[in-house]
Amino acid sequence: MQIIENAIGGKLTISGSDRRSPVFNPATGEQIAELPLSTVEEINAAVANAKAAQPAWGAMPPLKRARFMFKFKELLDRHASDIAREISREHGKTHDDALGEVTRGIEVVEFACGIPNLLKGDFSRNVGPGVDSIADRQPLGVVAGITPFNFPAMVPMWMYPIAVACGNTFVLKPSERDPSAPMLAWKLFQEAGFPEGVLNIVHGDKLAVDTLLDHPDVKAISFVGSTPIAEYVYSRGTANGKRVQALGGAKNHMVIMPDADMDQAADALMGAGYGSAGERCMAISVAVPVGEKTADALVAKLKPRVEALKIGPATDETAEMGPVVTKMHQEKVLGYIDQGVSEGAELVVDGRGFSLQGYENGYFVGGTLFDRVTTDMTIYKEEIFGPVLSVVRAGSFDDAVKMINDHEYGNGTAIFTRDGDAARAFSDSIEVGMVGVNVPIPVPVAYHSFGGWKRSLFGDHSIYGPEGVRFYTRLKTITSRWPNGIKSGAVFTFPS
Ligand code: NAD
Repeated sequence: MQIIENAIGGKLTISGSDRRSPVFNPATGEQIAELPLSTVEEINAAVANAKAAQPAWGAMPPLKRARFMFKFKELLDRHASDIAREISREHGKTHDDALGEVTRGIEVVEFACGIPNLLKGDFSRNVGPGVDSIADRQPLGVVAGITPFNFPAMVPMWMYPIAVACGNTFVLKPSERDPSAPMLAWKLFQEAGFPEGVLNIVHGDKLAVDTLLDHPDVKAISFVGSTPIAEYVYSRGTANGKRVQALGGAKNHMVIMPDADMDQAADALMGAGYGSAGERCMAISVAVPVGEKTADALVAKLKPRVEALKIGPATDETAEMGPVVTKMHQEKVLGYIDQGVSEGAELVVDGRGFSLQGYENGYFVGGTLFDRVTTDMTIYKEEIFGPVLSVVRAGSFDDAVKMINDHEYGNGTAIFTRDGDAARAFSDSIEVGMVGVNVPIPVPVAYHSFGGWKRSLFGDHSIYGPEGVRFYTRLKTITSRWPNGIKSGAVFTFPS
């Protein structure tokens, strides 16, 4: 049985912990690895290694730090398919989808390659007679990241490329469900020549997270995961005086206006609702058609598409959707479907009982479609994180906007319409951090920043892009005056 190693101070080590967690292939239900849950001493060792590496790394000119990043990007490009295969094996998503995830991660590395420009700072000459002012952004020191299972390669890459490019050193605690993709990326990071201890990876559970949250040498925490844990991480981290950005769960609505192209809207909902088996924080889990006619037309278009979903393991190139991540999660999603039925929603396509020949032990859930869901139902209020799409019929545009604004989550949303005025009013008044106009999954590109509103993000900074640079640096303003200079003496050579 493969044992998942920690990466501390540039070396791979097997944890001495006697607490272990199994890693499964969700398509087959087989255990494929064992992940030791690191001890407090091992987490402390990772932080100590990061701390030892930071002064020299932080003092290195940003241009030189960027050169390591360029090399890393090149290696990631070359091994993108290998990383994608690791993702699919432990997460279950299709190969193309996994490759898309790796590509989005690489884009953040590309952004981090521009760090000399991003750290340029501000300068004002003569703020007083002979007085100059420099606003400089400096690294924090050791920073840590705690990441979820659903994007095992990309979400860590939302964090550490920018953090280390800014001159920090990093301790990553990946999800215990699919740890191999971040480990492969770490190997490429080392191959790119980064000094030992710049990026460390420790595996573990709550104990590892709490140790990082309480550690005085960890100056900032980036967290991505479910809302209850995000809120906990934010509270405990900030109570300990740390800077924390904690991104949480979601319930993303897509509004379909009567003038929208129904085929386009239905196709968009298929990808956004069922892609990656609905296990995306930007998945659309609620479709909000405006008006009964729109709703009837939309459901009529969706039903045959959901029934025709091609579900299979990642090794099947024709599969559009894989299994969910664990048996426990499969049971949870199936439980939500039961609950939707018992609460009175109309089950248009039932994904329960789906089975695939040869993969009977895999954690598959069939594509599920509910119509006439109401806002008091559990399947509307809670994040299901599975291939379950709910249609909530809205009487008017204003009702649709109010519904979305009243929801506790505010990660992503979209409107499908041909009317610019409706799209503009929607973008202005919606209380959600990322808005799509005829774009179902409006994930910002790497040189913008990603973040939700309300209970989808705790903290003041969105993640990656310019907000990432701000999060991983602190501002220092230097005001200087040089009363008596030495101006004499000619110099005929270039300074060396
Ligand atoms: P999770 O909250 O269970 O786990 C996330 C991380 O927290 C993992 O590393 C895990 O080990 C750790 N953790 C779990 N329980 C803990 C505890 N009690 N104390 C301390 N740490 C703990 O999330 P998940 O199931 O891995 O991921 C799915 C969730 O992540 C969904 O809610 C999804 O919406 C969310 N997500 C959000 C975004 C975003 O950008 N907002 C992106 C991806 C995923």
